[in-house]
Amino acid sequence: MEQRSANISREMSLLKERMQQNHYKSTPQRDEIAEWIFRTHEHFTVDALVSNFREQGKKVSQATAYRVIQMMLELKLIEEHDFGKDYKFYEHTPGHEHHDHIVCIDCGKIIEFSDQGLESLKEKITLKNGFRMKEHHLTIYAECTTCPPDKKGFKKKGA
Ligand SMILES: [Zn+2]
Ligand SMILES: [Zn+2]
Ligand SMILES: [Zn+2]
Repeated sequence: MEQRSANISREMSLLKERMQQNHYKSTPQRDEIAEWIFRTHEHFTVDALVSNFREQGKKVSQATAYRVIQMMLELKLIEEHDFGKDYKFYEHTPGHEHHDHIVCIDCGKIIEFSDQGLESLKEKITLKNGFRMKEHHLTIYAECTTCPPDKKGFKKKGA
């Protein structure tokens, strides 16, 4: 997990504000999990969160982790991604521009990209079909060219 020591007080006050508006109570453990999420600038799983806390000698149950994640999804502070596995990936949104993903179906490497041409194309297609775009995610499943041939643990469901 990449962890930058950037100041996350802005994110934490955003969290506190939205928790209050939605009648969520702040607890030291909720805060600590939210802080970890804001410090993790890449896609993570619930398992990664739980084991990272365990490595630090702190006990966080899967259920607690899920509850904080559900809350933060509702408060629109994180996004959930289905990258074709049995479990979901998450990433925080404050401080990150909208982006799409390329996922390696062999090694699981996740790359973020954004392309203005692609964005306007999505907008155009949506409008042409009589919709107004609210949110959108594009995930490209691919094989990375640097993938070691023995790394075959990330096969997409049904692939
Ligand atoms: Zn970030
Ligand atoms: Zn991302
Ligand atoms: Zn790969």
